[in-house]
Amino acid sequence: MENNFMPLFAQGLGSFLAYMLLIALVLSTALLVRVKFKLKPANHRTSGCHKSHCKTSCKRKAALPKPVANSFSFCPFCTSKLELALVEEDMKRLKCTNSSCTFVHWDNPKFVSICIIPYRNPTNNELGLILVERGVEPKIGYQALPGGFVNSFELPEQAAIREAFQETGIAIEINSWFDTLAVPGRNEILLVYLAKEVNQEPKAGSDARRVIIHPVDEIPALLLSSGKIAFDLHKQIITKWLEERKGQ
Ligand SMILES: [Zn+2]
Repeated sequence: MENNFMPLFAQGLGSFLAYMLLIALVLSTALLVRVKFKLKPANHRTSGCHKSHCKTSCKRKAALPKPVANSFSFCPFCTSKLELALVEEDMKRLKCTNSSCTFVHWDNPKFVSICIIPYRNPTNNELGLILVERGVEPKIGYQALPGGFVNSFELPEQAAIREAFQETGIAIEINSWFDTLAVPGRNEILLVYLAKEVNQEPKAGSDARRVIIHPVDEIPALLLSSGKIAFDLHKQIITKWLEERKGQ
């Protein structure tokens, strides 16, 4: 009888090695593709994909965030033209077209410090809230809580104290942080502080046309009347303050 064991063994070993080679080839190709295109499967699932190779294969293309307004045309450093460009995955910003310049207009939000200033009437002990009538646009002639933009050299609390003094003539003391709110579409973040009660007579200044003290009991009607309060977020802040006072 002819011994077929050795040829069969060699044939089996050859097939096994061929399979192993094929698997190694597939794995290394997959690895190369992933490294080359920096594929992130988890990110695909959560935020979609904007890579050019995915235009046909990926059905989960997410909408790009709304680009910033074309508020600037030229780079403040090298005066080259700015153009909207993807600066990070999913992030489009105005970027300097000069390849040797790294300027990107990130358009980060600006901080605005706002003050709630309770006023205690020294003659009848009645509690009120200080609002200022705006003397500048936007919403000139409307009433708002005192406040303004935070400067780069000051803390938000200091900005609140400064703005309150400029607009009402009162040197307030901060009692506590009250709230943080964003203004949709306006790229601003409002930092709201509650001041300690004051009782001195306010005096309008800066961009405030006049200062108005509203007794607490009259504020709900004021909030309901259109054309009085400048900003919806200020209405929200005042409403929250009234509700918290009720709960005390
Ligand atoms: Zn530049």
